Amino acid sequence: MVRAVERAHEIGATALQVFADNPTAWRRRSQPPKELPAFRQRLTELDIGPLAIHASYLVNLAGPDEDFFAKSVAVLAHELRVAPAFGARFVNVHVGSHRGSGPGAGTRRVAEGIALVLSEVDAGPEAALLVLENSAGSGAGLGTTVEELAAILDAAAARGVDTARLAFCLDTAHAWAAGYRISEPAETDALLDAFDRQIGLKRLVMIHLNDSRAKLGSKVDRHEHIAAGEIGAPGLAHILTQPRLATVTYYLETPGMEDGFDAINIARCHALAAGAPLPELPPERAGGPGHGRGGRAGRDAGSSPG
Ligand SMILES: [Zn+2]
Repeated sequence: MVRAVERAHEIGATALQVFADNPTAWRRRSQPPKELPAFRQRLTELDIGPLAIHASYLVNLAGPDEDFFAKSVAVLAHELRVAPAFGARFVNVHVGSHRGSGPGAGTRRVAEGIALVLSEVDAGPEAALLVLENSAGSGAGLGTTVEELAAILDAAAARGVDTARLAFCLDTAHAWAAGYRISEPAETDALLDAFDRQIGLKRLVMIHLNDSRAKLGSKVDRHEHIAAGEIGAPGLAHILTQPRLATVTYYLETPGMEDGFDAINIARCHALAAGAPLPELPPERAGGPGHGRGGRAGRDAGSSPG
């Protein structure tokens, strides 16, 4: 974990998103990792933050299955309880899937889940925000549109949830897959206008800045290297340099993090923000969509973290 902070610093990152535990298991360790104090110290020394914890992928608050719902509430509450020990300001979670029960039932279910989770977690000054992330829309995914996200916020408020503990994350690859044409600056502006009207931009605290391998409106969640996918450089640059988003933190969930691509994608973000030429991707990844993909990157993109 300490190495992760140092690596973030080395590649020019100023924020970090981590898993607090195994992201594909229900079981949570009973004791916090021993290196947490050193981890937090390094975050402070290298001025890396805000730290986000990405909740387990298994969590689904929107579905009708009682057992799955109860496990999801327990795991998400656990992530929020351990967040202060990590020094995390955000716990990011996918809105989930209504599993065919319909958006209305799914929305009520998510609101019920949020209320239960937050009732199990202290709301002290160290408490992390529960950050809901928009969905790409595959598999009865809920929270694909601003309207659906706003409905969840309203339903949670109606249940008496302190909405100061809730915030939102916009994943650009998910928004693209859900049908928002954010390759066009005007469409991004319209999306942000709608978000501001219905939810409030002050509640948007995280952006998962990912390009997309999947087509607009495809409801397929396939992340791509920055400015190497369907959204492209002008659209991502517009999002990255939005004055209205100056207090939002951007996190990458691009492919090949373990293979050195994170450094390249960070460099490409800095170039996009500065209006400078993009550092090139290695040849096997530089062709753009449909130009022959390496198997290695396919593995990463295929299991995209969302
Ligand atoms: Zn994401």
